[in-house]
Amino acid sequence: MSVVDTLGRPVRDLRISVTDRCNFRCVYCMPKEVFGRDFRFLERRELLTFEEIARLARAFVRQGVQKIRLTGGEPLVRRNIERLVELLAAIEGVDLTLTTNGSLLREKARALRDAGLNRVTVSLDSLDDNVFRAMNDVDFPVTKVLAGIDAAAAAGLAPVKVNMVVKRGVNDHDVVAMARHFHGSGHILRLIEYMDVGHTNGWRMDDVVPSAEVVAAIDAELPLEPAEPNYPGEVAARWRYRDGGGEIGVISSVTQPFCGGCTRARLSAEGRLFTCLFAVRGHDLRAVVRGDAADEALDEAIATIWRGRSDRYSELRTAETAALPKVEMSYIGG
Ligand code: SF4
Repeated sequence: MSVVDTLGRPVRDLRISVTDRCNFRCVYCMPKEVFGRDFRFLERRELLTFEEIARLARAFVRQGVQKIRLTGGEPLVRRNIERLVELLAAIEGVDLTLTTNGSLLREKARALRDAGLNRVTVSLDSLDDNVFRAMNDVDFPVTKVLAGIDAAAAAGLAPVKVNMVVKRGVNDHDVVAMARHFHGSGHILRLIEYMDVGHTNGWRMDDVVPSAEVVAAIDAELPLEPAEPNYPGEVAARWRYRDGGGEIGVISSVTQPFCGGCTRARLSAEGRLFTCLFAVRGHDLRAVVRGDAADEALDEAIATIWRGRSDRYSELRTAETAALPKVEMSYIGG
């Protein structure tokens, strides 16, 4: 039996941030002005070890988790990440995936697959090299990310999902080009409404391009029809190309919030449990793990936190809430 929160939502998905570091300095996620030379990233001893992560993952699975996603920062910059994948893949009944900026994927895809990873999601906000280099702020070219996506598919980490966060006036002109590029490729493009994550991204409602507008723009060029969800509570709404060229997904976190079905727990690289992407404070599970707690005590700690959960930030979002302090996405993953 799964533990449920105050709104009756079970814990089904666990996102584990394995590092707060990234080799990009994306302008909305890790702007240089905030994450520059003086920023204090977590030190190695503060990070959960792979064994600690695996132990926590097993405890979450005992509470009902069925899917685990590794995030960061950028998860592929954590040394020997394949070893962690191996430990987590050994947990029975878990679908294991990873979200990456794609920069190291070409080199690592085969080893990740061999270690037991099921699939990857790659963040890519534009095909326009000038826009993309400006966004990642380290002059990284689009072609290398595309090579990483192809390598992942060739290694069997398929279908590859490609996440594009759409921001008005920045990359919305690139939506149809992205759809065209991935149409017929077997990869699934997912278009995400720009959210007020963290408090360094200066979010305004005017920056959001509603999913309905995105679907209409693609449909005008490449006709679409709605597709059934793969499972109840799926976050992305699916649309299928009428010509058989595959599908896209749209994630309408702002215009159609899905808190009612949110079953996601997030674990930071230093072992703090966040019960919402927009939470201010996490619960320290590292102290429990390092305090010689027996598995029963660990299970009880997780269950108690989840039972007390009442988060539904996106349903309550206003211009005022957008300005409130929240955990940074580079710390907790998307
Ligand atoms: S706002 Fe929080 S509770 Fe709502 S869907 Fe997002 S993570 Fe879940």
